[in-house]
Amino acid sequence: MTTIEREGETDLAGRLAFVRAGIAEAAAANSRRLDELTLIVVTKFHPASLVRELMNLGVTDFGESRHQEARDKVAELTGTPATWHFVGQLQGKKAKQVAAYASVIHSLDRPSLADLLSSAEVRPTAGRTDVFLQVNLTDDPGRGGVAPGGARELAEYVEVLPGLRLLGVMGVAPLGEGPRSAFARLRAVSEAVTQSVPRASAISAGMSHDYAEAIAEGATHLRIGSAITGIRPAAG
Ligand SMILES: *Cc1c(COP(=O)(O)O)cnc(C)c1O
Repeated sequence: MTTIEREGETDLAGRLAFVRAGIAEAAAANSRRLDELTLIVVTKFHPASLVRELMNLGVTDFGESRHQEARDKVAELTGTPATWHFVGQLQGKKAKQVAAYASVIHSLDRPSLADLLSSAEVRPTAGRTDVFLQVNLTDDPGRGGVAPGGARELAEYVEVLPGLRLLGVMGVAPLGEGPRSAFARLRAVSEAVTQSVPRASAISAGMSHDYAEAIAEGATHLRIGSAITGIRPAAG
């Protein structure tokens, strides 16, 4: 067990094991079951070869935040069993292309985008696209995400659309605030949403530096990048 106890792991398998151990520890500390937590490894800025290595290490779920990069990587990995999550801001004009490869979209934050993703031309032929409502946990209304007070209404809007299936809420803890209190607010939003849509109880929260706090506040889907993938390769 010494490898997973060491900080600053230098290889991918070591870092993955270290994070998995951290997740297990946070789950145990909060009486959460491991099988209710989904680890999504965010591979933005990293090549398809790293996704392959992670698949060999048992990772099934991958997150991307930029459409062009994601599209190229997914194309390189055609035929593999990877499940793709789109976690970045989504422009309406990209909705159709993203829905073509993303099984889950974590950044739905407005009715117009919901309409687009649900429309017959956009949604996958076999059924519905799974979505999370992104909630803006900052006090800057210009940031992505629906305001906490508007999430329930948006959930009701999404729930009746034919092409979408609402999984729950998603949030990013703002800088300059302890993540625990931000995730507590997200949990309260989740409770409001489930009053209208009881099934939509998932919570997408927690990144490299705050996944333990997210688990403590009920996160079910962890989006973890650099703690596993390591330093991002220089752009370009
Ligand atoms: C990049 C990103 C992550 C992962 O961030 P790390 O700090 O590298 O773990 C999670 N969620 C979103 C929305 C991201 O853009």
